[in-house]
Amino acid sequence: MKCRKCGQKAAINMRHHKLALCKEHYLEWLPEQTARFIKKYRMFTPQERVLVAVSGGKDSLSLWDILWRLGYQADGLYIALGIDEGIAYSAESQRLCEAFAEARGLTLHIVDIAREYGASIPELARSDRRGKGKPCSVCGLVKRHEMNRIARDLGYDVLATGHNLDDEAAVLFGNTLNWQVEYLLRQGPVLPESPGLARKVKPLCRFYEREMAAYALLRGIQYIYDECPFAIGATSIYYKEMLNQLEAKRPGAKLSFYLSFLRAKEEGLFAPQEDVQQALDACPRCGQLTSAPGLCAFCRLIERASSEAKGAVRG
Ligand code: SF4
Ligand code: ZN
Ligand code: ZN
Repeated sequence: MKCRKCGQKAAINMRHHKLALCKEHYLEWLPEQTARFIKKYRMFTPQERVLVAVSGGKDSLSLWDILWRLGYQADGLYIALGIDEGIAYSAESQRLCEAFAEARGLTLHIVDIAREYGASIPELARSDRRGKGKPCSVCGLVKRHEMNRIARDLGYDVLATGHNLDDEAAVLFGNTLNWQVEYLLRQGPVLPESPGLARKVKPLCRFYEREMAAYALLRGIQYIYDECPFAIGATSIYYKEMLNQLEAKRPGAKLSFYLSFLRAKEEGLFAPQEDVQQALDACPRCGQLTSAPGLCAFCRLIERASSEAKGAVRG
């Protein structure tokens, strides 16, 4: 297989685009495409400040690398979850993010959940009533809250995450299976800002997981290979496997599933609902919008964990 641009040996063949490229041309092509998507979906401008949520994985570090190469003003945010039971997952991923930022002279903000709130994610999950085993729902809640908090406190215009096409197609598949209209309405490359919440964007949402792995490898980005130990057995992984089977039979199926959804939405598949934000109030403690009366779900979680800790000390 030869590179379409120069005729050298191809490093990657993208059957769905009918495009094979060598290393050099692939490392040019992917950022060019990213820049195109950023403009097409009006994600952000070069004048805006971007906060990239990095986990130490290939997608988020590649995203930061691409934005840096494209000349955007992009800083990183690493949230230390304290998931270090068994394997040093959080410690290792933090080390890789720090090394990445240092090598490029980039600014990385670090929020350590245990230091900030007195309990790590596994500990917070144990104090959560819903937490039956896996800490993922608590983890998602905390990450969302902290990303919004840091973006707001440090004055970033936009929050960027490294979700790729495989992630987005799996989420879309899950939401469609249950016709979760509220989630479907919010899914897309851009979630506009609302009072107190930064705009959220996914510049890699049209790239296959395999394309992002190739980019990280060819760029020599050091990232954490291990998944979070709690990811094992997640429903999203099962959906990804199913979609992979479909893709093997029909190259381009995932991309067309996702893009057709975006098109259908643009054409009014879901009539825009009343502005839900109006029904939301600001949490009296952290100021973020919440549909619950009184404290938001995050502040309730922290309060419960700290009162349990006090109880344990007294007991
Ligand atoms: Fe958090 Fe790990 Fe669950 Fe992901 S898999 S939501 S990082 S606990
Ligand atoms: Zn080439
Ligand atoms: Zn709150």
